[in-house]
Amino acid sequence: MLGIKSVLCRIACIVSISLLSGSAGAWGDEGHEVIGLIAEHYLEPAVRARVESILAGDTTQLTSRDIAHEATWADKYRDSDRDGAQTHYFQSRNWHFINLELDGPSVNAACYGRPRLTPGGSASRGPANDCLLDKIYEFTAELRSPSTGAEERRLALQFVLHFIGDLHQPLHASDDHDQGGNGKRALVQGARWNTLHHEWDKTFVARLGRNENEIARQLIACITPAQRARWSTGRPDDWAEESFLVAKAHAYGRLPAPRSAFQYRLSAAYVEDATAVTAEQLSKAGVRLALVLNLALQ
Ligand SMILES: [Zn+2]
Repeated sequence: MLGIKSVLCRIACIVSISLLSGSAGAWGDEGHEVIGLIAEHYLEPAVRARVESILAGDTTQLTSRDIAHEATWADKYRDSDRDGAQTHYFQSRNWHFINLELDGPSVNAACYGRPRLTPGGSASRGPANDCLLDKIYEFTAELRSPSTGAEERRLALQFVLHFIGDLHQPLHASDDHDQGGNGKRALVQGARWNTLHHEWDKTFVARLGRNENEIARQLIACITPAQRARWSTGRPDDWAEESFLVAKAHAYGRLPAPRSAFQYRLSAAYVEDATAVTAEQLSKAGVRLALVLNLALQ
């Protein structure tokens, strides 16, 4: 799946990036911010102005209103009442992933039978049992439609900014009957035990640079016109399948034998490979997020 040329570029870029690796904060927030920054770089000027003007209407105060931070908004929204009424939490928590099973991937099963919105209904009030892929299509359609109201348009943009990112986190598009790696524990040498999902959300992203701006700048410098053209093909279904295959080959496929039940000590080779894969997934997500927005808001 990964062409030799892209692998070579990745390695060249990653070697230089890894030398800079420090401890970065927390596709945790940092991963989504990187994707937002890459997308921003590739937005057409008029589309960027539209995006900024829609986000200026965000009064939730869950994030600052720039594109990079708004790319984290959907996680903040989900968690905003997690300890209270849990309305947002139960409404939207399943929308962040598509659990394609390694031993029998089925989009229909992972998407709860692919429920449809009621005619005239808003995607932000759609069924709680729906998947990442369906929500991307629904919210993108709302962004495209001139009849979408201002509030729903803003929500649609916030969810799209985040969900294109989630679709490229391999463990948001795959499952080994372990909640996308949350049921496995992993240890990177010199760090603490975490879930495998956490390592892919945050640890490998943090190895790419000191902060989201530095990571985004370096990844953009590595993206060739040919890569951008190749990544700008297909549709979210294809990108979900690609993420699933990345998980199968790398996130799950390169795991060592477990040390004990569901516990894995990750080798340096696993970490290097995962970091390179993460760099490419973040880059693809940024390019594709810009593509989706450029098409929907032109
Ligand atoms: Zn998410």
